[in-house]
Amino acid sequence: MQQSTGVLYVVATPIGNLGDMTDRARKVLSEVDLIAAEDTRQTLRLLTHFGISSKLVAYHDYNEAVVAPRLLAEIDAGRSVALVSDAGTPLISDPGFSLVAAARERGLSVVPVPGANAAICALSAAGLPSDRFLFVGFPPRTRSHRLAWLAELDEERGTLILYESGKRILATLVDIGEALGESRRLVLAREMTKYFETFLAGTPCELVQRLDGDAEQRLGEFVVLVAGNADAGDADRAEAERVLRILGESLPLAQAVSIAARLTGVKKNALYRLGLELNLAQGTAATDSGE
Ligand code: SAM
Repeated sequence: MQQSTGVLYVVATPIGNLGDMTDRARKVLSEVDLIAAEDTRQTLRLLTHFGISSKLVAYHDYNEAVVAPRLLAEIDAGRSVALVSDAGTPLISDPGFSLVAAARERGLSVVPVPGANAAICALSAAGLPSDRFLFVGFPPRTRSHRLAWLAELDEERGTLILYESGKRILATLVDIGEALGESRRLVLAREMTKYFETFLAGTPCELVQRLDGDAEQRLGEFVVLVAGNADAGDADRAEAERVLRILGESLPLAQAVSIAARLTGVKKNALYRLGLELNLAQGTAATDSGE
C-alpha cells in the first residue's frame, strides 16, 4: 500500500450485497492498524466474510466525544485508521463527521475509499431527473415536525432524496402527499442490491394505496425519491417581471436590469433575457447601445 500510516481512511462497505465490496476497501481494511466501526459485531461479520483480522474499535454517536480524540492521537502517532459504518458510506446519515472534521482541522490525511451509497444507488436507477438533487437524510419522526420539515423542501427544484425505515414509510408517504402535493412523482427504492429489491413509482396517494394493501412492500429499508417542484421560482419571476416593467418604462434596459437585480436578487443575465423577451429594450435602444 502506497500510504499505510498516519492516515484516516473513510471506507464505504456494501448496502446489502457483499459482491459490492470493492477490492480497494478489502485491501485498506486488511492493512490498517485499526478499524473504527459503528457496530463492531456487524463489521466483524463483514470482516470475517472477507478473512480480514484488523483490530476493531467501536465508534458511534454515543462515544465519539471520547473515542475521536483517541483515534486522532493514533493517527498523529503515525498509525492508520479506517472508519466504516454498518452499511454504505460513512457520514451519510451515519457517524463520522466530527472525526473527519477534526482530522482535517489537524491537517491529517483523510482518504476516501468510495463504494456503495443508498441515495446515489437509488437515484441512478429511479428514472427521476438526476442533474440536480438534494439529499435530506431521514425525516423527523414526529408528524408535526415531519410536515414542517417537508414544507421547507417544497420549493426545491431538484429531485429530493430521503431515507426511511419500513416502520415509518407509510406515514412519511402520507405526509409527502399532504406537504408537497398529490401531483409529485415518487419512486420508492426498497432493499436495493438484496433479494427483495423493488422499485415502485407513482403519486404519493398511489404508493400509499400500494403499500397499505401489501404488507411485504412495507418491509425493509427504503430510499424515497421525490420529483422536484417544477413550478418553483415562478413567484420570483413574476416579481422580477413586475419590477423590471416599471423600471423599464423610464430607464434604459441595462440600468433597469441593474436596479431590478438589486431589488429582487434575480441574476442580471436572467433579468436581461427577461427584459428582451418583454421587448423592454425597444423604447430605449439608443441609450442601450453597447449592452
Ligand atoms: N451510510 C449509508 C449510505 O451510504 O447509504 C446510509 C445509512 S442510514 C443509517 C440507513 C438508511 O439508508 C436506511 O434506513 C435506508 O433508508 C437507506 N438504505 C440503506 N441500505 C439500503 C438498501 N439496501 N435499500 C434501500 N435503502 C437503503
